[in-house]
Amino acid sequence: MQFAVIGNPISHSYSPLLYNFAFASLGISAFYSRYLMDLNFGCLRNLRLNGANVTLPFKELAFDKCNEIVGVANDIGAVNTIVFKDSKIIGYNTDAEGFYNCIDTTIKSALIFGAGGSARAIAHILKSKGISIKILNRSEDRLKYFRDLGFLCNSISEYNHTNKYDLIINTTSSSLEHKLPCEKNKLCSILKDSKMAIDLIYGIDSKFLSLAGSMGIKTKDGKDMLVNQAILSCAIFLESHFIQFDYECLRDSMQNAAKLF
Ligand code: NDP
Repeated sequence: MQFAVIGNPISHSYSPLLYNFAFASLGISAFYSRYLMDLNFGCLRNLRLNGANVTLPFKELAFDKCNEIVGVANDIGAVNTIVFKDSKIIGYNTDAEGFYNCIDTTIKSALIFGAGGSARAIAHILKSKGISIKILNRSEDRLKYFRDLGFLCNSISEYNHTNKYDLIINTTSSSLEHKLPCEKNKLCSILKDSKMAIDLIYGIDSKFLSLAGSMGIKTKDGKDMLVNQAILSCAIFLESHFIQFDYECLRDSMQNAAKLF
């Protein structure tokens, strides 16, 4: 069986390490690779995969390409997990649960930087848990989806910080460009009153987390979320193809693989 993660950029992804470690531990004959995809997402079927993870910037596009959507992905409008089965593409979202499983349950409010596929997943799960949310994005275009659903939103440039938020989440790809998600003084005033800062990026230095850490704020990168969503996605891949597996062995093997990076 063949699986892969698809995105652009993609070279930073550690998903192949997690999956191939798990397949070996579970004794499953399968291989997981990574594909750099251009915006012509139509060639997806030509890869002849059994399943794939989708990462930036394709999660919303992948949602539109699916023949069937399962579970919370219907509310989120973005998929990070797709299964190819019986000539159909079936989409799921495991980012939402993967993220929620790694935050402190005492969090009551959150400010999200970014309005892409991962921001949608996080906004939905936090709202469903009764956490109040504010969303800030660089451009206006992607905020429309959130405004239409009644989320409080602002473009970053127009935002004036007055309220306090427990959790500040960077879902933008700014850290991949070694940049902050917004101008430093504004970010400092937002971080100053918070309890925790999370950047979804992992494996590279995040200027956002460095700044938060220097202000004495608790920080977390995206590694736990990566592992959590990968465990859930892998279970979907295997169950969809009727492959029996031990869930605890899957979870432990991915968590052990994550200690390698
Ligand atoms: P998308 O491409 O869907 O969205 C990217 C967002 O980042 C947009 O809101 C975009 O704003 C914003 N952005 C890009 N560059 C900058 C910048 N320099 N300054 C401010 N804003 C910027 O990406 P995803 O939501 O799919 O993924 C976002 C990040 O999260 C990626 O780095 C990805 O690797 C990571 N991620 C990690 C996961 C994990 O398991 N740890 C899971 C999912 C994602 P605009 O609309 O203005 O272009």
